[in-house]
Amino acid sequence: MPPTIQRKGMLLIISGPSGAGKGTLIQQLSKNNPEYVFSCSVTTREPREGEINGVHYHFITQQEYDRLLAEDAFLEHAHVHNGNYGTLRKPVEQALEEGKIMVLDIDCQGALNVMDIADDYVSVFILPESYTALEKRLRARGTETEEQVQTRMNNARIEVPKAPLYQYNIINYEGRQDEAVAQLKAIVDAEKNRVNRNHITIQED
Ligand code: 5GP
Repeated sequence: MPPTIQRKGMLLIISGPSGAGKGTLIQQLSKNNPEYVFSCSVTTREPREGEINGVHYHFITQQEYDRLLAEDAFLEHAHVHNGNYGTLRKPVEQALEEGKIMVLDIDCQGALNVMDIADDYVSVFILPESYTALEKRLRARGTETEEQVQTRMNNARIEVPKAPLYQYNIINYEGRQDEAVAQLKAIVDAEKNRVNRNHITIQED
């Protein structure tokens, strides 16, 4: 008989400055793996080219955002760059109840708030190899205006010093993304096997 494994869900918080490559790492990590669930945040910022409402974000008005806030619908929320962002509480709770790995790609303020209120989580901060590499990546993305690039670089200089507040730090070196993905995967695999997330029963034979 195979062992029975009762696995608790995992709240996986991932932060890192804009342009550090978080999105791609998360995509690689979860590719073809139904264990992962993503929270589709709400935001008041304008969609970028190619972004789909309900997939990348729920793009909402400030009025709708204020209503959700008043209803206490957010697990966490923050003002980032030039917009408001929030994680809806319900889908997170549901995914955790189902034993899934719930990925939150959120900024430092939001992450620190979640770390304050959640009793069990795994937190990872993704670092670029240098500020120059980060700026290069932001420019190469071509989705931001010069002013937005500068806002994101200023934010990066505030966020990066907060990396030690997370449980794990990963450097996403230029051209060595596979290494960063492998490190992230190793963290998730190890954390999945922590005794507080597992109850294993083995049989006689
Ligand atoms: P972007 O506008 O480039 O998609 O995201 C900007 C920043 O907002 C990123 O650092 C991203 O992690 C963060 N972010 C996205 N969704 C949320 C959210 O629901 N809450 C918080 N606190 N930050 C978020």
